[in-house]
Amino acid sequence: MLLKFAKENQKMRVVFGCDFCHRVISDPAKAIYAWQVDRKTLEIPEGVIFVFHTNTCDQVTLDNDNEQDKNLWQWAPLTRFPAELLNGLDKTWEQAQDEQTELQPKD
Ligand SMILES: [Zn+2]
Repeated sequence: MLLKFAKENQKMRVVFGCDFCHRVISDPAKAIYAWQVDRKTLEIPEGVIFVFHTNTCDQVTLDNDNEQDKNLWQWAPLTRFPAELLNGLDKTWEQAQDEQTELQPKD
């Protein structure tokens, strides 16, 4: 997973980059996050998460018919990722917002 800092309106923010073309994901609705599972056990062997632009950079994830590959690709819309990440951090959206607000410089 490629994360980048981007400057916008004098503020830095964290954005996703595409693991294939390395460009910034400007529209999360047109991107996926993807991972590989073992074809036999459906376990996630590496636990690595990739992000790809859909329809242009995600071709590798469409190659699941090759049974010579030990692993299968699975994916979900990138727009679902923030909720998954918050869940993994045991945070609610409100807690995350509160912590972000505490980091903002005071005027
Ligand atoms: Zn791309």
